[in-house]
Amino acid sequence: MIQLYIPLNFLGVIYREIKQSLTDLDKMFVLMEKEREVRDAPGAQPLAGVDATVRFEDVSFAYEPARPILKHVSFEIPAGKTVAVVGPSGSGKSTLARLLYRFYDVQQGRITIGGEDIREVTQSSVRKAIGIVPQDTVLFNDTVEYNIAYGRPGATREEVEAAARAARIHDFIVATPKGYETTVGERGLKLSGGEKQRVAIARTLLKNPPIVIFDEATSALDSANERAIQSELKNAAQGKTTLVIAHRLSTVVDAHEILVLESGVIVERGTHAQLLAKQGRYAQMWALQKSEAAPLM
Ligand code: ADP
Ligand code: MG
Repeated sequence: MIQLYIPLNFLGVIYREIKQSLTDLDKMFVLMEKEREVRDAPGAQPLAGVDATVRFEDVSFAYEPARPILKHVSFEIPAGKTVAVVGPSGSGKSTLARLLYRFYDVQQGRITIGGEDIREVTQSSVRKAIGIVPQDTVLFNDTVEYNIAYGRPGATREEVEAAARAARIHDFIVATPKGYETTVGERGLKLSGGEKQRVAIARTLLKNPPIVIFDEATSALDSANERAIQSELKNAAQGKTTLVIAHRLSTVVDAHEILVLESGVIVERGTHAQLLAKQGRYAQMWALQKSEAAPLM
């Protein structure tokens, strides 16, 4: 629910966001929903940003007090490495991504970037350090160019195009009637799940943050498209600290560590080879996916 009562200091945040980047009312409501969950600590400084190691230390979290979602979750993504999370729908995978981006604060434990608790540094510096390719990308009712350049306000058309090429969405864009000036989103040209995801990848490539989060799409994509997206995701993750919420095995095989999440608890962890040898939940999912080409979630 959107609350119509808005605290004054919160309006300041919104106003700054609007000034920086947006004119769209829908987006403003999305921001209102998210921004009011967290506040900068008094005197918070930006992240030092030298070390992109991410750690979840004994993290527990609930959206509503009566219903714990994550329970004592601990893991580390060393700088430049990939950690993959698999598990059933509703197990809390996307919640991990939302907490790292600091849409919400944890209720127990802590999340650190380069050893700094993300609650003790500015929220804007955390968000600057992270690029998210979400499960379902919401586009602004604005031009394709705007939607990609949002990754780095002030980017030139050449930079936007280079990112679009790398995300393999350029050819699609130039084939639309107005090219990069085409309006997309609910009130413009509607893009498929795969196309929207490519726009989000282009945005992330342009932003070029040290940390990336991929919440992979599933059923929205056919398998040829899925494979194509995989390779673009791999490009975007090159050399970056990566948290991937994986629905297909191809992305997890090379991960530094794979976490199997069930009802907010890590029930198994290890490399692909270690988990197969264990013949537990992961090995079951692997066998199932191989036989049915079913997603991992
Ligand atoms: P997954 O990505 O593994 O499918 P999520 O992390 O999205 O799971 O969600 C975990 C649980 O938290 C689900 O039961 C979901 O219904 C609940 N949940 C997600 N977002 C909210 C929210 N904003 N408020 C309350 N419950 C939520
Ligand atoms: Mg999810």
